[in-house]
Amino acid sequence: MRDLLQQTIPSLTAEQCDRFVAYYDLLIDWNTRMNLTAITAPEDVVKKHFADSLAALPFLPEGARVADVGTGAGFPGVPLLIVRPDLRLTLVDSLQKRIGFLETVLQTLGLSAVCVHARAEDFGQNPAYRASFDVAVSRAVASLPVLLELTVPLLKVGGKSICYKGDASEELAASRGALHKLGASAKTVSVPADYGARSLVICTKNAPTSKQYPRKAGTPAKSPLR
Ligand code: SAM
Repeated sequence: MRDLLQQTIPSLTAEQCDRFVAYYDLLIDWNTRMNLTAITAPEDVVKKHFADSLAALPFLPEGARVADVGTGAGFPGVPLLIVRPDLRLTLVDSLQKRIGFLETVLQTLGLSAVCVHARAEDFGQNPAYRASFDVAVSRAVASLPVLLELTVPLLKVGGKSICYKGDASEELAASRGALHKLGASAKTVSVPADYGARSLVICTKNAPTSKQYPRKAGTPAKSPLR
């Protein structure tokens, strides 16, 4: 695992490598008791979970307040925090047992982040969190119009929602209405990968979000903004 990490992400320090190894061990151990990931081979985890998660690094300002929405087993938030412990990270997921896993990971790795068990729709309407983040990240959670409704309300004006995607062109075309309604604009950055098309859709919040968004839990996915 250590060799794979150093080959795939050569910039890692010894301490960061140790943390990724400990994270891998916990992921594989807990995965025997709960459904965390279908990807378990060391080379696949390093490439498709760890390195893939780090794609947003160039877009995270020093000390940024970051929300990882629908983090699951901690992707992309935990790898980003391992490499950038300056980030003030909040991990959000609607499944309580995944939050339990994440709390164990953070404690074992000696890292600090806030873990919240919530639906993103409720989290985005909570005054403690709404309009308070510099960046939202999300990977493999929902289609782009849905993700925009879940993440843009969380951002300060000028903040960015970074959505990890494959080929995003069709989703981006389907998101024009959502971007307009949410007062945001988007651009796509392609990410080099040898395991398929990868890109980041980077959406900038240009104006405060209307209070009606996000709509109640389940509605964004059932009836995406158009
Ligand atoms: N982001 C992780 C990754 O890339 O491996 C997990 C992806 S997993 C396919 C989707 C995760 O999003 C699940 O853990 C699920 O519980 C969570 N999720 C889906 N809809 C959500 C919502 N509305 N609010 C909060 N979490 C949600």
